[in-house]
Amino acid sequence: MIGNNMNEVSVIGLGAMGSTLAQVLLGNGYRVTVWNRTTAKAEPLVRDGAVLAQSAASAVGASPIVVVCVLDYKATNEILGTKEVASALAGRVLVQLTTGSPQEARDGEVWARERGADYLDGAILAYPSQIGTDATILISGAETAFRRSEPLLKILAGNLTYLGEQVGSASALDCATLSYLLAALLGFFHGARVCESEGLRVDSFGSMLADLAPVLGGEVKHLGEVIQAGEYDRPQSSLMTYASAAEPLVRQAQDAHINSEFPTFASGLFRQAMAAGHGEEEVAALVKVLRGETTDKGGLTAGRTQSG
Ligand code: NAP
Repeated sequence: MIGNNMNEVSVIGLGAMGSTLAQVLLGNGYRVTVWNRTTAKAEPLVRDGAVLAQSAASAVGASPIVVVCVLDYKATNEILGTKEVASALAGRVLVQLTTGSPQEARDGEVWARERGADYLDGAILAYPSQIGTDATILISGAETAFRRSEPLLKILAGNLTYLGEQVGSASALDCATLSYLLAALLGFFHGARVCESEGLRVDSFGSMLADLAPVLGGEVKHLGEVIQAGEYDRPQSSLMTYASAAEPLVRQAQDAHINSEFPTFASGLFRQAMAAGHGEEEVAALVKVLRGETTDKGGLTAGRTQSG
């Protein structure tokens, strides 16, 4: 019997994240139907009261809201791309919490609409242990679908952020956040090598950065405002200051005979920005190099290069 009760949900994908989503929803009184390629992973949830669907199609048909959380969109397509699933989808809200790209989200929305379903795309910026407490989940897609699923999503994520109807927004912001995290991690790992090569403790370095986190967060907020406003001419910290600071990093790596790829990459971008004449501007002007913009001051024509 197909349920239309909004306290009924199906969860497809029971890896580390999907199992936790299902468990938290069970713990909050939802009737949870689950399906996973490897059936054994459903056993703990079934012991706690979940209903095991015999197929992905019957999981889709069992509840008005269907949460999918598998490895990637390729896996999603393998699971959902059958005739049986297609005919079970009409009238459902498909909440895709699998990590993917903005284009995959847009394609997913078209695919779901063609089958009569609403579609939301979400990005989970949290570990499974945070689900049900302070997890951040970004959601984008049709507002009507979001309002239908909002109570459920709020249970999963203390910090639920709806980004509007452009369905690619959640994964776009996820990509942007991952970019920041990856650069921070690479910087941390190179910093760890600097500490090791100079006889300093890496755990003390980590603690010091943790203490600086609010200041670093404030700096990112400020730089975002500068780039959004396009006003680089009142530098709190000039690009030249950062460019000069990047050079000793390269020299230290060479002197200590440690890997120098990260500082060489970073100082290369700052050198390009200096050559383009952005030295006197706010450090955020480095984004102009990434856009492919150049300035007359740098001896080049303003605008975008062929690659920009
Ligand atoms: P996981 O533990 O590796 O689980 C992967 C899930 O995908 C399993 O249910 C697996 O089924 C299924 N799967 C993989 N390939 C499949 C295929 N070809 N056909 C059918 N099912 C397939 O991964 P996870 O940590 O739960 O992550 C799930 C999603 O959440 C990912 O997109 C991830 O980026 C995102 N996420 C995870 C975290 C985290 O900390 N774990 C944080 C944020 C976002 P089997 O059990 O049968 O292998």
